[in-house]
Amino acid sequence: MRILWIGFGQAGGKVVNTLMSLNRKFYEAVAINTEEADLADLNHIPKKVLIGRYKHKGRGVGGDIEVAADIAQKAVSQMMDVIDVQNRRFDPEAFWIAGGLGGGTGAGGSCVLAKELKETYNKPVYALGLLPSTTDMPPEKEALHLSNALRSFEWWRRYFDNIMLVDNQQYEQRMDVRESLEQMYDRINRNVAKRLTTLLSAGEIRPAPQEVFNSSEIIATLGSDGDVSAIGFKAERVRIKAEFWKGGIDPDSNELERIIQTSTETSSLTFPCDITGSKNAALITHGRPEYLFTQAIIRGRAYLEDRAQVSKVRYGDFPDKGSKTLSATTLFSCINDFSRLDQMRQRVAQLA
Ligand code: GDP
Repeated sequence: MRILWIGFGQAGGKVVNTLMSLNRKFYEAVAINTEEADLADLNHIPKKVLIGRYKHKGRGVGGDIEVAADIAQKAVSQMMDVIDVQNRRFDPEAFWIAGGLGGGTGAGGSCVLAKELKETYNKPVYALGLLPSTTDMPPEKEALHLSNALRSFEWWRRYFDNIMLVDNQQYEQRMDVRESLEQMYDRINRNVAKRLTTLLSAGEIRPAPQEVFNSSEIIATLGSDGDVSAIGFKAERVRIKAEFWKGGIDPDSNELERIIQTSTETSSLTFPCDITGSKNAALITHGRPEYLFTQAIIRGRAYLEDRAQVSKVRYGDFPDKGSKTLSATTLFSCINDFSRLDQMRQRVAQLA
């Protein structure tokens, strides 16, 4: 599926930069920021737009989502001029804006741009929203990030067709694994970019697989009107003779079924929620063609239909002869369990 990615703010720019590093054929990208320095490192994004240059001198908005929305409103034609050129040249099937919901520029500016895109083009406009992890944050900063995330999420729901949520907290590791915040963000960005690219490119491989998950099925799964989605993922390394010392599984039908099931567990999702009651679901299995066992996939789909209580799980194969893993990527949309946001709300009240 051809996507024009728009990285809004620092986090959005970084995640789109990672997406672009994975696939230049089906992705195009634009980065937008109020902070000049954050645009500089985005080496895979061809077009960059600095907004609010005169008022804020390229130094950001300091986490103020109202100021960000105001700047974005004033810069609508500056942003749309760049996007319009990319749209004509590349003809994307959807726009997808990525931003940190807990920050300022991306959180406040994205929905202003989404509104304009919806009014201008007859194409879906999706969001990739990054929720903050606040471990070790000073209380004032934690309160700001959490309340920004809760408020901007409500704004976004009015303008986007779908908001895919990624909760950074899902990726926090045990205390004994030493990792800087930047390293954690890089790991999250790579993980999310890989999950999304598997979903979006499964239908594009040639020769076409037996079961194709194409663009119209992606659009149908994501839904519209501010629906919320999350991606589940589970991969296992397979044993390869030439690399026997690295270990791995010798896949059989039961292994693949287990991988599909595990991809739906709360800890495997980009956003922690109960998937029961999500209206739409899709599954992609990726790996060497001989490991994509039909019976396991039939049972896996039935399991998903039962777990999520959806009538039909859309499906696509992603055969990949050279793959060293066997994986299941699941997409759940129109999810309706927002207890994680309630937790965030309670924490904001505690901190007040
Ligand atoms: P903005 O530039 O004003 O839009 O603010 P940021 O994009 O820096 O947003 C800050 C929020 O995004 C924080 O809550 C962080 O948790 C998160 N964040 C910052 N950088 C990254 C990143 O590279 N990846 C991810 N996943 N989250 C990030």
